[in-house]
Amino acid sequence: MKPAYSNLLAPLDLGHVTLKNRVLMGSMHTGLEDRRKNFPRLAEYFAERARGGVGLMVTGGFAPNVAGWVSPFAGKLASSSAAKDHRVITDAVHRADGRIALQILHAGRYGYHPFAVSALKIKSPISPFAPKALSARGVEKQIQAYVRCAQLSREAGYDGVEVMGSEGYFINQFLVTHVNKRSDQWGGDYANRMRLPVEIVSRMREAVGKDFIIIYRISGLDLIPDGQTWEEIETLARGIEKAGASILNTGIGWHEARVPTIATSVPRGAFAWVTEKLKAVVDIPVCTTNRINTPELAEQILASGQADMVSMARPFLADADFVNKAAADRAQEINTCIACNQACLDHTFKLKIASCLVNPRACHETELNYLPTKAKKKIAVVGAGPAGLAAATVAADRGHEVDLFDAASEIGGQFNMAKTIPGKEEFFETLRYFRNKIASSGVRLHLDTQATPESLLAGNYDEILLATGVTPREVSIPGIEEQMQTGRVLSYVDVLAKKHEVGKRVALIGAGGIGFDMAEYLVHEGHSPTLDLPLWNKEWGVTDPETSRGGVVRPEPSAPAREVFLLQRKSGKPGKGLGKTTGWIHRASLQAKKVQTRSGVNYESIDERGILISYGEKRENAELIEVDHIVVCAGQEPLRALQQPLLDAGASVHLIGGADKAAELDAKRAINQGSRLAARL
Ligand code: FAD
Ligand code: NAP
Ligand code: SF4
Repeated sequence: MKPAYSNLLAPLDLGHVTLKNRVLMGSMHTGLEDRRKNFPRLAEYFAERARGGVGLMVTGGFAPNVAGWVSPFAGKLASSSAAKDHRVITDAVHRADGRIALQILHAGRYGYHPFAVSALKIKSPISPFAPKALSARGVEKQIQAYVRCAQLSREAGYDGVEVMGSEGYFINQFLVTHVNKRSDQWGGDYANRMRLPVEIVSRMREAVGKDFIIIYRISGLDLIPDGQTWEEIETLARGIEKAGASILNTGIGWHEARVPTIATSVPRGAFAWVTEKLKAVVDIPVCTTNRINTPELAEQILASGQADMVSMARPFLADADFVNKAAADRAQEINTCIACNQACLDHTFKLKIASCLVNPRACHETELNYLPTKAKKKIAVVGAGPAGLAAATVAADRGHEVDLFDAASEIGGQFNMAKTIPGKEEFFETLRYFRNKIASSGVRLHLDTQATPESLLAGNYDEILLATGVTPREVSIPGIEEQMQTGRVLSYVDVLAKKHEVGKRVALIGAGGIGFDMAEYLVHEGHSPTLDLPLWNKEWGVTDPETSRGGVVRPEPSAPAREVFLLQRKSGKPGKGLGKTTGWIHRASLQAKKVQTRSGVNYESIDERGILISYGEKRENAELIEVDHIVVCAGQEPLRALQQPLLDAGASVHLIGGADKAAELDAKRAINQGSRLAARL
């Protein structure tokens, strides 16, 4: 019988070196790259993933010079003394039998600082700084900086470099006419526009010798109007191969593209077809990427011949042991990345150290460790939502005796509602992970069990953790009580958990995360584009660059299943509190489904016709929104009735997750708080 994942785990011969498998840990900016003092932390982060079996890892981006910074004082490798600092990282990885390449990232006009440079002085939509247009001598200096950075990477002990040629950064900017309108040897026809990457790679190869990995990340799909045609991409791929690259990695979409490329609502493996096209063009190994988060999918892509290697990035934040678990046929135990971006990319944009919603240890390996306990305790955890699941399994893993109670008949708490939202199917994976973890860690699970002060005190527990979550906030509006009785006014729990029927016109009270999710749920009527790639491509206007430049066409969203009104009392654009990297996707998606938003409203009354609203302090411009149903999504209150009686009885009680604080609660906080408490007990 063939072993599981035989393609994924097959070695990859690059000539001078053989990688132990086809898994590439893709580049991620963690925030630890930017300060030398954080290099020991970065070293442990990479070493843990090397021990986890990854074939080749790529660091977050390092600029080759100041002009290439992503932001002021971002990580840069431009001197021998800086190269020495990297030794702690490369040595740790090599001791762990791993291999690592440094990503050279020149931001060009995406640089968020006044020293940015590009082909022309054309500001990007995502930075307030207009770049300086480079002279021909200036272009030459950038090429030299790339080459020097590769030499320094070798000096620092790296096994190779990745040249970032996609995502709309410096190199990519030279390839397209909307940024590159030069008339010298670096602009004009495509042969001139592609001269920059080809020169960089060929001079780099000459400088570093044959026995050093050069990965080139090519933009296989720009996803911007005026992006490259397939003919151009093909020509570049051949040029890069000839110039001496060892591996061609795939890049998808510029940062300014209006198409989501890695969010959870993007179908899994949505862009493997781009790599498949590249593979037909070159003979060097090609690597595929974007929304691949399970060994099954990675294996399937390799087995079908679409790629030679699979890059996964965030899945290694979620689980450092991904490869080892797959190799041991324990894939069911992998803590799967749900592509939420909440603790990784959203942190990066806020200049916070990245981590992972499902694995708070990510990038905190030197500080958060689940060490075996020296004093075994008997612990009760009440509530099997994210907070309780994390606390119970970490405590049991550490050797404590743990009872986990939930009144419901399944684990997961609110995740059982989240997983029903079209585009949030990945939440099923977290529940699968915890189900296995409960079994492997020895947690005693008691479902359909309402814990009471009496039952808990009778258990003689050393510690009681209340992870009882939240209850939906009740709102007071004239007429609401009567209409709740008729079933016209519902809570989000009635719709998502109790599956109450909802009519064709619906008003939502509250435009927070759950209001937005509810709108998605109602307009899609159960059919999720995330599970239907051709439909998703149509909805977002993604196509083959062979048909349309840049791979974009006019989006053709299908008709919404319902007419939805999303209301909030605050003025301003709804959805402001949503994640930095995902909020725009939710807003665009609801706009495409013609969801009508109203901000700055007062809720005047509710009756059998619908909801009457007015605007502003003067309560002007009354508007009756006639609807079949009104769904209340107005936030939550903590549920912690058990706390006081237990404290009164002298028990040691801890509150975690929503039971502790409902305001701005999310699963990231719940899992982090549960895990950290359990690590201390
Ligand atoms: P809960 O998940 O509320 O779990 C509490 C558990 O306690 C429940 O299972 C309940 O049955 C049990 N319980 C209560 N009292 C007792 C008792 N006396 N005895 C036994 N059991 C009891 N968060 C994100 O971070 N990202 C998202 O994208 C996201 N999307 C969401 C979408 C929807 C539609 C919803 C509803 C929520 C979403 N959330 C999201 C929020 C996230 O699910 C919550 O923040 C998280 O579930 C809170 O975890 P918790 O463990 O504190 O509580
Ligand atoms: P929320 O984000 O706090 O939003 C609550 C909404 O209700 C707001 O729009 C608020 O706006 C309104 N509201 C509050 N009190 C009200 C009242 N008394 N009467 C009428 N309206 C009221 O809460 P949520 O949407 O329930 O989400 C809960 C948590 O789950 C959030 O903190 C969020 O982080 C998390 N979540 C995250 C995601 C995600 O994608 N990351 C998705 C879903 C949920 P006004 O006060 O302006 O009316
Ligand atoms: Fe994946 Fe979310 Fe973790 Fe980021 S925070 S690695 S997207 S699960």
